[in-house]
Amino acid sequence: MTKTAVVTGASSGIGQATAKELAAKGYHVVLAARREKRLMELQKEIETAGGTAEYKVTDVTSADEMDSLIQASLKKNGTIDVLVNNAGLMPLSFMNKLKIDEWDRMVDVNVKGVLYGIAAVLPVMEKQKSGHILTISSVAGHSVTKGSAVYSGTKFAVRAISEGLRQEIDPSHEIRVTIVSPGAVETELTTTITDDDILTAFKEGPQMEMLKAQDIANAIAYAVEQPAYVDVNEILIRPRQQP
Ligand code: NDP
Repeated sequence: MTKTAVVTGASSGIGQATAKELAAKGYHVVLAARREKRLMELQKEIETAGGTAEYKVTDVTSADEMDSLIQASLKKNGTIDVLVNNAGLMPLSFMNKLKIDEWDRMVDVNVKGVLYGIAAVLPVMEKQKSGHILTISSVAGHSVTKGSAVYSGTKFAVRAISEGLRQEIDPSHEIRVTIVSPGAVETELTTTITDDDILTAFKEGPQMEMLKAQDIANAIAYAVEQPAYVDVNEILIRPRQQP
């Protein structure tokens, strides 16, 4: 039977590449994000390449929308085998700029969005006694730099949440929990930055060959494709030139 993978933040960057990679590996992929046009185009691209996909416009900051995404997919496809909690944003700023709205959005999307994903899918996977929940943290979920305080806070948080979840899984169930922590990846992520000092620091700082979204998709596919007794707990992956 075809396995189903739900990917949040599938409308660009890492989520888009992951959806394509999992579809190429034979998964039926369920694409979730807010921008419908992009999801529709990605569905077509996957189908043209010989895969299968569907999409559902979903805002991960709504527990109800996350739940209806999972329930609709379950009803249609019979199982949810993989959830990739990928949606996120990174409006880096210095704390004294007091960008409280951006702090709120990061907590809402990067942390609460992940929790709502887990809340929606965990009962399903417990009933199935199988499944795989992957969450995208970051190198910034391992160390803090000036300007990354709140973003790092959200990425440290999802590592803690995933590790706690992993420990609580009934060992008789084939449910796996994985964190993927990328360094700098070339995506649209930095477009959410509004702090001019951060943008200047980015421009003037050392340049490097960044990772491609496909590199992270490959890491995700690696974790997913291991045999059921293997749980890849975390993959930390960064550009060779990133300190
Ligand atoms: P992009 O900006 O390219 O993609 C972000 C995705 O998140 C988009 O598809 C966007 O879709 C989605 N998203 C944002 N807010 C919401 C929301 N409220 N509900 C649903 N979807 C939402 O960035 P990346 O691909 O780089 O980011 C993916 C993940 O990887 C993030 O968690 C990020 O923190 C993490 N990461 C990225 C790194 C990098 O260097 N790029 C490094 C380390 C981690 P839409 O706007 O259509 O809703």
